This record gives sequence, structure tokens and C-alpha cells, in this order.
Amino acid sequence: MIKSKYHVIIAGAGVAGLYAALCLPSDITALLISKQTLDVCNSTLAQGGIAAVYNPDDDDTVNLHYHDSLRAGGFKNNPETLWKLVTEAHSDIERIISLGVDFDKDKEGKYHRTLEGGHCRRRIFHYKDSSGNEVTSRLREQVLTRKNITVLPETELCNLKRTHTGFSADVLRDGDHFTYDCAYFIMATGGIGRVYERTTNASIATGDGITIAYELGAKIKNISLIQFHPTAFYDRSETARECFLISESVRGEGAYLLNRDGERFMENYDPERMELAPRDVVSHAIISEAKRLSSDEFHLDISHKDPEFIRNHFPAINRFLLSKNIDMTKDKIPIYPCHHYLMGGINVDVTGQTSVPGLFACGECAHTGVHGNNRLASNSLLEALVFGRSCAEEITRKLREREAFKGSLDPEKLSSYKFLRRFDSKPVPNGLRTKIREIMQKAYFVFPDMVAVKEGLPEVTKIKEELENGNYIVDVRYVEAKSLATVAYLILREII
Ligand SMILES: Cc1cc2nc3c(=O)[nH]c(=O)nc-3n(C[C@H](O)[C@H](O)[C@H](O)COP(=O)(O)OP(=O)(O)OC[C@H]3O[C@@H](n4cnc5c(N)ncnc54)[C@H](O)[C@@H]3O)c2cc1C
Repeated sequence: MIKSKYHVIIAGAGVAGLYAALCLPSDITALLISKQTLDVCNSTLAQGGIAAVYNPDDDDTVNLHYHDSLRAGGFKNNPETLWKLVTEAHSDIERIISLGVDFDKDKEGKYHRTLEGGHCRRRIFHYKDSSGNEVTSRLREQVLTRKNITVLPETELCNLKRTHTGFSADVLRDGDHFTYDCAYFIMATGGIGRVYERTTNASIATGDGITIAYELGAKIKNISLIQFHPTAFYDRSETARECFLISESVRGEGAYLLNRDGERFMENYDPERMELAPRDVVSHAIISEAKRLSSDEFHLDISHKDPEFIRNHFPAINRFLLSKNIDMTKDKIPIYPCHHYLMGGINVDVTGQTSVPGLFACGECAHTGVHGNNRLASNSLLEALVFGRSCAEEITRKLREREAFKGSLDPEKLSSYKFLRRFDSKPVPNGLRTKIREIMQKAYFVFPDMVAVKEGLPEVTKIKEELENGNYIVDVRYVEAKSLATVAYLILREII
């Protein structure tokens, strides 16, 4: 068994984990792990971009960004963390640009900002329609050059224990178990999309970090605040779990939403904002309209716009649709809501610290409260940046101040916790994860169905307890099944 120690271990190599690592000074050692290869995460999939008020000569202000976020969030946002988000956005955008991130510019060389639902100004920094891939690629390149950061892909966190000097993390790699120790731990493990049958999320989104933090005693908050994106590509013939997203910015740039009869139905639900209403409003409208017409046939239509503009602005979406024999410059795009994003998670304060001393969380697995009941488009990459940096700054401050700083790195003083291997264990039975997904899809898709929630909670509780107490081999399937069961349990319990 390899046993190494770091000042900080970061679980997750999406935007939150990568940026937190980059914000640590060079004399602080960090281990950065990711469950699959470094590119498999929700951050890579992000299309639209990052919301931020940047140029002082624009007619935009942080107050307007703050107000748009509040309005989208149903005024349930945490005012302190939201203010931090909108006022510090500028410096993090500047910093990632200095780290090599490229954003689209207009003919005069000014950053082009796109518009998305719920924003009253064009303030979304983007790189074509593959903004997440651009940001993660550049941050990854930087991380791999840093001598103080050790990167271990395909390394899954499966357990975390407190020690008298920090934490001991058990991981799985190449079918074997390893333990690493650290003084501080940052959970940046992303979302929970795989608890649903249909989601825009990457396959890593099984809620592992939330589950592990919960098992360690961290407070979990608002985990039932889930965002269902209104415009996932909808191909009835496909059974794939991962749905391709038709970015919010397609509506931002003028696409119409049409029902089965080709009508722009949003005027019956939000006549002021129409297609540019926030996601929860549009998803609710689609489900209500589907019930009214007994039809799940909905389309996005941007074919009235200049074909050249469409092709330039949405090259990745256009490429995907052409592979499905749909030409978005001429054809309507079939869409339907699906699971997209988690607003709640591991509760943190304004610095990113959880209720467990020394444990930090940032990005989609964390609940900072900035989103309230519904996230404003393109505020989540921003949240991952601002609070990823905040975790790094607070840990640096604590390490600098800590009397026991050197002592914490003394191997003699580290706990000798060892990962428990059970040689007589059995593999997790097939079908458990499918069962959990069926329960969740029935109990809570866009609106909770209280009858199904009441039926589903005892079922997922039973699966969770069976996984916790049964004698199972601790492998990736086991860790993910236990995480999905725990997340489903926490969501349904919160709704009831
Ligand atoms: C299709 C799509 C489009 C989106 N578009 C936008 C957009 O335009 N703008 C915007 O602001 N937001 C957008 N979002 C949301 C945004 O991308 C995510 O909220 C954000 O990227 C989350 O970043 P993260 O670093 O927290 O998590 P992720 O990027 O998902 O990274 C999670 C990391 O944790 C690792 N991990 C998970 N479990 C373990 C484990 N047990 N052990 C070790 N590692 C683990 C994974 O391997 C991965 O490296 C979009 C999301 C999707 C799915």
C-alpha cells in the first residue's frame, strides 16, 4: 500500500478542482485525483459560458447581475455568497485569461458576450459553443506544469476518515486500494445527474463526494433543489442516459420554443420574458403544455436567423445535429426537459469550509446558496471559479497560521488507518442502480409526485442500508451504487 501525505488533497478535476489547485501557492503540496480520465466531467461539457460583469464601459453592473441571479433563484439566494460571486467574477475571469483561456472577441477586439435566459444584459463570456472544453483544457495544461501538484487520473475516492492531523483518503486505482493523508481536503466531485434516467451530466456525476462528506458528518443542504434543463435534445428512438444539451444561448440568440402545433406557447406562461425566462419557468411550462396537449413533442427553432451566424456561433451543436440528420439552419430541433444541475449539496460558508473542520467543498457538489431555488444560466462555472479560489485561499491562510503545520507532515504523527479489504466479499448485484433511477424519475421529475416520493423513500432507504451493511467488494460499481442510493435517499427525505 502506498501511503503519501500532502498539505491538500483535491477530489475532482473539473473547473472547481483544477482552479482550486492552481490558486495554491507553490510551497503548498496538493494531490489532485479524478475518477476517470481528466477530461470526463461536467465542466468539459459546458457549452454556453461564464457569466461575469467585466468591462467597466459596458451598460452592465454587478448590481444587475446580482438582481438577475436573485430573480432566477426566487429570492432564496444567500445574499452574502451571491454578492461575493458577482463582485469577484471580474478578477477570476481576468486570471483564467492570463492562464491562457481564450474567449470569443468581436471585430473591435472586445470580448463578445452572449445572452442567456434570465439575464437582462449580454454578459456570458464564451468560446464558440464549447466554453467548458476551452476552460478545462487550458487549466489542465497549467496544472500539469506545476511542481507542487501531483495529478492522479482514474483514481476514485471511496472513503474519507478524520485523523488527528487532518484526513486519510482511501482511493481505488487499477483495481487496488491506496491511502493518502493530508491536512486539508477539498471535495470538488461535481453533481448527481446519474441518479436520473435521463441527464445532461457526464458519467462521473454519481454524487460520490456528497455521500462521502455526509458519511463523515458534513451538513447537506437543499439537495432536493434540482434544475431540469428545458432544452435537451430529444430523440425518442435513443435510450442513451446522457442527453445532448441544446445550449441556453440558442434561445438567447433568438430561437423560438414551439409546441406540437407549432405555436410559441411561452406567451401563455411568461409573456414578458417568453423564451428568455429562467430554466425552471420554461421546464414547468413545457411539462404543463405537454399535459394540456397530451404530447411530448416540442421544438426549438432558430432557422429564421442568418445561417452563417448560426454555423459560426454554434459549431459543436450544429455538428451534433447534422450527425442526427438535422440542419439547424433550416430544421426545427426536437427537445424535452431532462435533469441538468444540482443547486444544493455539501453546505459551505463563504470561504468554502464545510461543517467538518478542515473539509472544504466547491463547485457543483457544494451548496454555497448563490443559486437560491434555481440557478441563473452560466453562474455555475463562475461559482466553481470563485469558490474554488476561495477554498485555496482559506486553506493557505490556515496552513500559514497553523502552529502544527510542520507537525502535520511528520509521518510518525499520521494515523495508521488502513483500508479494510474483505476477501470474502461479493460483487454488487446488477440492477440496483437502474432501480434507483426508476424511483427518482417517477418521484421527482420537474415537479415532485408526492405519492411516488412516499413510495420511493422506503425503497431507496432499503437499498442504501443493504449496500452499507452487506458484505460487498469495494470497487467502482459499489462506491457509485452506494452514492446513488444515498443521494436518492437524501433528496426524497428532504422533499417529505
Ligand atoms: C451539458 C452541460 C452544459 C453546461 N453548460 C454550462 C454553461 O454553459 N455554463 C455554466 O456555468 N455551467 C454549465 N453547466 C454546469 C457546469 O458545467 C457544472 O456545474 C460545473 O462544470 C461543475 O464543475 P465541477 O468542477 O464542480 O464538477 P465536474 O466538472 O463535473 O468535475 C467533477 C470531477 O470530480 C471527479 N470525481 C467525481 N467523483 C469522484 C470520486 N469518487 N473520486 C475522484 N474523483 C471524482 C470527476 O472525475 C471530475 O474530475 C453545464 C453542465 C452540463 C452537464
